[in-house]
Amino acid sequence: MKIDVISLFPSYLDPLNLSLLGKAQEQGIVEIVIHDLRDWATDQHRTVDDTPYGGGPGMVMSPVVWGEALDSIRNQAMVDPVLIIPTPSGQPFDQVLASSLAGEEHLVFACGRYEGIDSRVGMHYSQDQRWSSVREVSIGDYVLAGGEVASMVMIEAITRLIPGILGNPESVIDDSFSRLDSLVEGPVFTKPPTWRGLEVPEVLRSGNHGLVAQWRKDQAQARTETFRPDLLSDLPEPPH
Ligand code: SAM
Repeated sequence: MKIDVISLFPSYLDPLNLSLLGKAQEQGIVEIVIHDLRDWATDQHRTVDDTPYGGGPGMVMSPVVWGEALDSIRNQAMVDPVLIIPTPSGQPFDQVLASSLAGEEHLVFACGRYEGIDSRVGMHYSQDQRWSSVREVSIGDYVLAGGEVASMVMIEAITRLIPGILGNPESVIDDSFSRLDSLVEGPVFTKPPTWRGLEVPEVLRSGNHGLVAQWRKDQAQARTETFRPDLLSDLPEPPH
């Protein structure tokens, strides 16, 4: 998978070179290229924003500069890329979207700052046949200062689903939001069996796989009821 990220603060994205993603890049499973948006600004001050039409506080990022940046990346692409524009007003990002994007060959992330990117950028590229699709995506109901952290969240969630990136691909199966039963994952423990007076549940040390599976299922159910009852209401009706 190829990933391009365009930002006003390229070094904000440095953590993408660490850990699993750093290794995945060394192995050639993922290629990540970070671009400085100002490289496409044309005036002496390398301006990328302007005042909003209709008035109001803050600045809006220029469609002219974004257009130059995105055209240039598209012209060098081998396949029609997916354009992802992080924005609090977009489609909520979740494991289903992460999983669908993990099957794409080329993703381009456009990191906004200030009051965001001129809305014509998303409109224009949605109609451009040379882009596979345009997604305006929110990572949650809060407002960040810029799209860099939002892009990193999405890139990490997407790329760990690409075969070959996780040491043990089976670890995804029991993950919260990936499970067939729609529950979040229950508690996990490792050695020592007693730590500061707290015991690992006896059943996990019993060696009885059936009992362990049932205990994990019960714990996942209890945790989902406590923290995410909204997920339980999505479950299909049991057969009569
Ligand atoms: N005025 C905008 C609004 O209320 O929708 C918020 C602009 S925000 C200060 C600047 C940039 O941060 C956005 O263009 C976007 O790139 C990013 N951003 C902020 N919160 C985000 C979120 N929850 N999800 C995705 N991106 C976000």
